[in-house]
Amino acid sequence: MPPLPKRKSSRAKRGHSSSHYKMKLKSLVPCPQCRSPKLPHHVCPHCGYYRGRAVIPVEDKEKASS
Ligand SMILES: [Zn+2]
Repeated sequence: MPPLPKRKSSRAKRGHSSSHYKMKLKSLVPCPQCRSPKLPHHVCPHCGYYRGRAVIPVEDKEKASS
């Protein structure tokens, strides 16, 4: 007979096991360009820079041509 928990865990206890509550929103690094928090190893959504150069154009100076 293997060791078993002495009693069934209550609903509250079960609800508190939090292995699924983590994840998400872990690390943010400041963008070297604009200082806004961004995901590491990602293009900054704010200024569109990655590794010191503009990767994606950001609609800021070049306003929409509508
Ligand atoms: Zn940036």
